[in-house]
Amino acid sequence: MKIREIFDKKTVFSFEVFPPKKTSSVDVIYRTLDELHDLKPDFISVTFGAGGSSNNTFACDVASRIKENGITPMIHLPCINYTKEEISSTLDEIKSRGIENILALRGDRNPDIEPKMDFPHASDLITYIKSKGDFDIAGACYPECHPDADSLVDDIINLKKKVESGASHLISQLFFDNSAFYEFREKTAIAGIGVPIEAGIMPVVNKNQIERMVTTCGASLPRKFVRIMQKYENNPKALRDAGIAYAVNQIVDLVASGVDGIHLYTMNNAYVAKKISEAVSGIIGV
Ligand code: FAD
Repeated sequence: MKIREIFDKKTVFSFEVFPPKKTSSVDVIYRTLDELHDLKPDFISVTFGAGGSSNNTFACDVASRIKENGITPMIHLPCINYTKEEISSTLDEIKSRGIENILALRGDRNPDIEPKMDFPHASDLITYIKSKGDFDIAGACYPECHPDADSLVDDIINLKKKVESGASHLISQLFFDNSAFYEFREKTAIAGIGVPIEAGIMPVVNKNQIERMVTTCGASLPRKFVRIMQKYENNPKALRDAGIAYAVNQIVDLVASGVDGIHLYTMNNAYVAKKISEAVSGIIGV
């Protein structure tokens, strides 16, 4: 099923998973997937390494497993470190497995890899994917601005090019302050971007995640969020429960404000996804 069609019917509720490292057992992610399937998300997306990664073959396997279990899969496809030939053969693989949905991405630049530059921007990749088959293509967006962009205005102008290239819906970077998302949504509407935008929600449930959020994620951290993280950072169970409650709060407010969809960054944690799904099932209609 093409994901764009689901937005016409309901508030979309989706999950994101990442393939296992080559050294870990595929069975672990398959067990997680089986638990996630029981929660009946509208689709599950699978991340894909931006280059030099050893786990990309698993990404297609994981997406196939999702499809076999009766859930619509979406595969991420970053382009900055791949040649046109490599992207072409990956698209052939995706098509041969009957996967119809692709999140087209530029990918982060890796200082150790010289970018291939066949596709400098996600919009270039989208144009190419469209020429290769009948895929439904999504793009990424950044409520608090992509770090490479000079300004949010420039970033939104570039986002519009991405939509004009053929992105039928967008998935946002994670954020912890809903007002940042609402302001972004208003600006995209003024810019004439009319496709559905799913809100990316990351439940922060362990100390490693807090450290990553503070140092690398670029999302603004509201005082309420910082207070919760500081209070519970050394109490794993309390932190997990507080992180779940914070995410649920964000989702309730977003749905009440008419969001097109919620994309949950599950971090392959089925327990957390289950708790959140149960808490919002009535309001989101799963
Ligand atoms: P682009 O849309 O190309 O934008 C990148 C920068 O270039 C922006 O500053 C933009 O303003 C500018 N730009 C865009 N188009 C133009 C243009 N035509 N002219 C001039 N400037 C332009 N990375 C992975 O490697 N694997 C994943 O699986 C993955 N999954 C992700 C999922 C989500 C939901 C999100 C939000 C991000 C994900 N990423 C993933 C990270 C993503 O690859 C990085 O954020 C990357 O730096 C930008 O990718 P993009 O597709 O948004 O790039």
